[in-house]
Amino acid sequence: MILQLSSLFCALSCAATPPTRASCSPSAEVVPVAADVYVRPGHAAVVFESDEIANIGFIVGERCVAVVDTGGSIAEGRALDCAIRGVTDRPVCYVINTHVHPDHLLGNLAFQRPGVEFVGHAKLPRALALRGDIYLERASEYESTQLHESIIVFPERTVAGVVQLDIGGRVVSVRAHESAHTDHDISIVDEQTKTAFLGDLVFLEHLPVIDGSINGWIGELEAISGEALAYVVPGHGPARAHWPAAAGPTLQYLTGLRDNVRAWIADGGDLASAQDNIGTAQSEEWMLFDRYQRRNVGAAYAELEWED
Ligand SMILES: [Zn+2]
Repeated sequence: MILQLSSLFCALSCAATPPTRASCSPSAEVVPVAADVYVRPGHAAVVFESDEIANIGFIVGERCVAVVDTGGSIAEGRALDCAIRGVTDRPVCYVINTHVHPDHLLGNLAFQRPGVEFVGHAKLPRALALRGDIYLERASEYESTQLHESIIVFPERTVAGVVQLDIGGRVVSVRAHESAHTDHDISIVDEQTKTAFLGDLVFLEHLPVIDGSINGWIGELEAISGEALAYVVPGHGPARAHWPAAAGPTLQYLTGLRDNVRAWIADGGDLASAQDNIGTAQSEEWMLFDRYQRRNVGAAYAELEWED
């Protein structure tokens, strides 16, 4: 009931004005991960069975604030908005969505107001168009109230390549990646502190989930592993981690899965047997392994069976 009321309130009022400190309750708990860079840590859970799953956060410039992802519900987005008010009076000017998954962007509506520009990959609008209806349906079930399609907020500025956003004395680089975790992943680097929000290009603790290309994901991770970053914020796992060490677990998991699925296909093994057998020894290494491993094997098999 609390969720219903907070979401209804937000749907009616969040779009017009930012919250004031006096009106802010509840506020998300955020942790500083670098100077004027904050993260609201998520916790491992299945999408639509909880909100507050993904790591989301914001970067404070001298002029305004860039938000990176908004969480899995309008209420969570509003709590993040309130956490920003607890840190600075500067307005939010950008909301950058790392990709389409609902645990990262269903809080967007809480930030939809004059002066806020939504930013995403050039392929994000297509992904939202394809999945928006099902997200709306599932989110309505979760919140036990019929949500309006306005909760699906499309980017006003799309990125292909790299775009730099000036938030006042501070530049935020936004990079569009080739198909990896999804076919439209975005990473964000705060150039002042060399802190990067990598979205779901990097998972820690929570099993990586393939919704794009296993070969592409390995390639993108190998490419950015050489970058001189101080810290990164993974999409799932701790609020911040060292780089490039943080890429290790995701990269090892993906290359191991790729090699095993390739060998399975070469030996004439079918998809069902691959899903029953591949990777099972790793079940204790990752949270949500049982939920996503068979799905990952299926995605990898579908991609790799057509190689060469
Ligand atoms: Zn994701």
